[in-house]
Amino acid sequence: MKNPDSVEENVRSRLELISARDSRIGAFIEVYAEDAIAQARDIDARMKAGKKVGSLAGLVVGIKNSIAVRGKRLTCASKMLENYAAPYSATAVERIIAEDGVIIGSTNLDEFSCGSDCSRSKLAKTVNPLDFERVPGGSSGGSAAAVAAGFCDVTLSEDTGGSIRLPAAFCGAVGVKPTYGAVSRYGICDLAMSFDQLGPLGRDVGSCARLLSTVMGEDGRDAMTAGVARVDYSAHLNSFPKRLRVGVPKEFFSGCDEWVSEAVWGKIKALESARDGVEIREFSFPILKYALPIYYILCASEFSSAMQKYDGLKYGMPWSEANGRDLNEIVSTVRDRALGAEVKRRILIGTYVTTKEFRDAWYSKALKARDALKKEFARVFDDFDAVMGPTAPMVAWKLGEKDQDPLQMYLADILAVPANCAGLPAASVPAGRTKKENMPAGLQVIAPWGGEQALLQILRACEK
Ligand code: GLN
Repeated sequence: MKNPDSVEENVRSRLELISARDSRIGAFIEVYAEDAIAQARDIDARMKAGKKVGSLAGLVVGIKNSIAVRGKRLTCASKMLENYAAPYSATAVERIIAEDGVIIGSTNLDEFSCGSDCSRSKLAKTVNPLDFERVPGGSSGGSAAAVAAGFCDVTLSEDTGGSIRLPAAFCGAVGVKPTYGAVSRYGICDLAMSFDQLGPLGRDVGSCARLLSTVMGEDGRDAMTAGVARVDYSAHLNSFPKRLRVGVPKEFFSGCDEWVSEAVWGKIKALESARDGVEIREFSFPILKYALPIYYILCASEFSSAMQKYDGLKYGMPWSEANGRDLNEIVSTVRDRALGAEVKRRILIGTYVTTKEFRDAWYSKALKARDALKKEFARVFDDFDAVMGPTAPMVAWKLGEKDQDPLQMYLADILAVPANCAGLPAASVPAGRTKKENMPAGLQVIAPWGGEQALLQILRACEK
């Protein structure tokens, strides 16, 4: 693509690309063509007049459709919210607009972010732009596909248990899940509030750093962000830590596709030889095997509580469309009709494990185990500055391959969820294509709490 002369020209060429290709790829739920052009024109006019423009001026941004953009449909890819318009914008979205990022549209996802390959969207079907027979990853599959297809530079996405990193890995993009609480969650639809984290999924580390610097930081509407300062990560992106002790957990490679292992190890070794001061050491991190059950128990528990508001009265498909003799029957008809099987499964599991009879056996135990995992991570970071391994144990699978078996789908998250359980910043950067299937593998880098600056520098060094 030749360098466009104006923001408007850039936006128009993206819109043309979307018109030509998105009917096949299915990255977007909605494209905001007119708004994007108007926003681009306004930026161009200010530039021409020598007036100030924001730090994202000209960057074309997609927004995962579980994040509110005022006046636009906020569907979570569910029939439940198909026609719901957001009454306000998420803080992160407001910040992107204030810094002149051009918002081009909302991207597809698994229904309410529950999934790992985007197949559970009820409103669009997304394929992997690198191979139309394969999934884009999930839940932010539309975001990853939009970036990989060149429809936008970067997206604002959300990662509860890998939803930014896994699709980034499957589509050969860069995805960053910041430290829990670094970015305000105001204006997002919860999957599980103690895990959910907004972050960038983009074509390169530079665009992710710019977006993250813009959206992060304290917000009076989300107490978790208290005391978080905004940092300009772009300014120091090309520096590199003097000494970098990298720990590689052996457990990350057991059960991992051998071709993915080969690509990821190749990338780790390449970093070691390219940079002075990098020390690589394998170690054993046995508690990692509990991360997946911890995640799925706690995620379902929090999700079942967050989903109570979708009853057709407060939010959701209007109850007038449901028949029923009393309130119970109306609400259950609405929920039965408007929610997909995976969403229902999680509501049921979450309700079950938090009931008085079973809480101690499941929910409370998972909370304790999560605590232990956090402590182990803290110990690991006494010895290491970063932990590396694959983002997912496989490459993007074929469409439909895991539709019938939820456990197989959950297993794809096994390497992504440890960072969410511990609230740590983690990212995926391309590790090249695998020799067998010629599909991208992702190198995952996990950093200590608040360690985004070094994390981004490492990603940048890996990208070169
Ligand atoms: N695949 C995970 C799940 O289904 C991750 C979801 C997410 O990060 N939003 O829960």
